[in-house]
Amino acid sequence: MISVEEALEKVLSYVEVLEPEQKPILDCLGQVLAEDIYSTIDIPPLDNSAMDGYALRAEDTHGASESSPKYLIVVGEVAAGSVPTKKVRVGTAIRIMTGAPLPEGVDAVVQFEDTDEVNRKSSRRDLSQIGVLCQAEKGLNVRGRGEDIARGDLVLKKGKVLRPQEIGVLASLGRSTVGVIRRPIVAILATGDELIGVHQSLTPGKIYDSNTYTIAAEVSRYGGIPKILGIGRDSVRSLVEKIDEGLDADMLITTGGVSKGEYDIVKDVLAERGEIDFWTVCMKPGKPIAFGIMKEMKRAKRRKVPHLGLPGNPVSSMITFEQFARPAILKMMGKKTLAKPVVRAIIENDVVNTDGRRIFARVMVTKHGSQYHASLTGPQGSGILTSMTKANGLAIIPESSRGVKAGDIVEVQMLEWAEEQGEIKMLPVVSIVGKSQSGKTVLVEQLIIEFKRRGYKVAALKHSRGGMEIDRPGKDSWKFAQAGSDAVYISSPDKLGFIKNLNHDLNIDEIMTTVDPEFDLILAEGFRKSKTPKIEVHRKAFGDDLLCSREELSAIVTDTPVDTDITQLPWGDTVAVADFIENNFMGTIKGEGKCSP
Ligand code: AMP
Ligand code: MG
Repeated sequence: MISVEEALEKVLSYVEVLEPEQKPILDCLGQVLAEDIYSTIDIPPLDNSAMDGYALRAEDTHGASESSPKYLIVVGEVAAGSVPTKKVRVGTAIRIMTGAPLPEGVDAVVQFEDTDEVNRKSSRRDLSQIGVLCQAEKGLNVRGRGEDIARGDLVLKKGKVLRPQEIGVLASLGRSTVGVIRRPIVAILATGDELIGVHQSLTPGKIYDSNTYTIAAEVSRYGGIPKILGIGRDSVRSLVEKIDEGLDADMLITTGGVSKGEYDIVKDVLAERGEIDFWTVCMKPGKPIAFGIMKEMKRAKRRKVPHLGLPGNPVSSMITFEQFARPAILKMMGKKTLAKPVVRAIIENDVVNTDGRRIFARVMVTKHGSQYHASLTGPQGSGILTSMTKANGLAIIPESSRGVKAGDIVEVQMLEWAEEQGEIKMLPVVSIVGKSQSGKTVLVEQLIIEFKRRGYKVAALKHSRGGMEIDRPGKDSWKFAQAGSDAVYISSPDKLGFIKNLNHDLNIDEIMTTVDPEFDLILAEGFRKSKTPKIEVHRKAFGDDLLCSREELSAIVTDTPVDTDITQLPWGDTVAVADFIENNFMGTIKGEGKCSP
């Protein structure tokens, strides 16, 4: 058995970067640029306006304000796409639209909102004059010629992967086609006497061929062109016939027929028709894999095509595709980054490693605050393809380990980003707001006691306007901070504290990125500007009005009924407030038992 890395190295050593082709820019998404792109033009080609407004001389607006506007004579108008015919002289302006070239004499544009145009229009006053309500600096709302790209600039370098923005830049340069490394053609053959196609009806003993579809979709996803060969039967003749149809491709992928069974003859065909390189890799699932070079027999040219014989089990074939075929396709496309992104996550289940292979466990990774968590997607049988549909990552259990325990940190190869799943469980944060002295602190204190009683881990968040004094002058931690350390951690047998110097007052979202994800609830006092759910403490003695607007609040805690349709909870009834928070903001955590042990 060889390691995953050794196997990958062998596969990659057999594939080369393909040749470039010239194509319409819109067909190049995800492909690698095969030429340096220089600009033959300035972008923008002329100085132009960044706003709809009035083009003028900044000097003429000096001293202008809402209370004493500067009045200018309007001598014309210029729209985007036209060329100005008039000049701006002292005391005049030209009405201008976004993107229109600046008329001669102009050095600033004042947007409509900073003029009296709207008032003039509504009171049907003369528009041959305009009042400017603010003082403009030279260059205001002016986009300079060549500001984005200057003629002769190297705009995009060879090797760049084309994303929508690069395709847009190519269009802005007037390019309709571009040279890119061509996409590899990957021939796909499913093998097995038990397989039937999706258009046939299911008969006893048969199953639908799903691998063809998974693998073809994978090939497309990573930028290759799938060439579907269909289903090969478990006989040398059938396989050879089908394989021959695929030998004009850049790579051949077969699934099935590589284990030790009697009918597993893919490797025999490979041995006979080509050169077999390896066929067992130290991984689970996916131990039996064949790799080699298939030789064409028919044509005079005798092409040699790299052949990956993936295992038949649907999960195994997909995971081995991800480990070996995907990097090979990316290499052929000229890409430099071949690895999938890896995150470190807390695994939420035990995984036992019985036979010293590298386990790729199907997991769903979610993000709690700044910490990733990975939980197994159910039964891990290599035939259970739905375990992949529920997964967004593969947790890697090293071959050297006996397994991992829930709570351990594992590396997870992300198939998609955790953030893209739309199921990210954030730590619930609830702010208790209210006027000064209204009793916010008392309520937070009582809620902490109540949530602790209910078995939750609670953290409190308090804003201190006057700075903090835990790092007292003379203490070692203070000395470290004085010496310039960006943050100081102080640990003792029963507490951990951390003091970080800031250059601005953090908002709750920023603070949350530093919070330990083990908590079930964060109770904040104050932070009325944050977007987190807010509950306002309202006491009659402090006035009838509320501090926050009604739309901002989730509930109020009050000692007198208020005429409003938002939830009102009685002041003094901490249990009711805790119930409200638990039912409305802690559902995902409590309902799924993910965070609370
Ligand atoms: P094999 O590697 O050919 O022994 O196949 C292993 C298992 O995967 C068997 O249960 C096959 O029925 C199943 N299998 C093989 N090829 C496919 C396929 N194309 N689609 C779905 N299942 C398959
Ligand atoms: Mg088979």
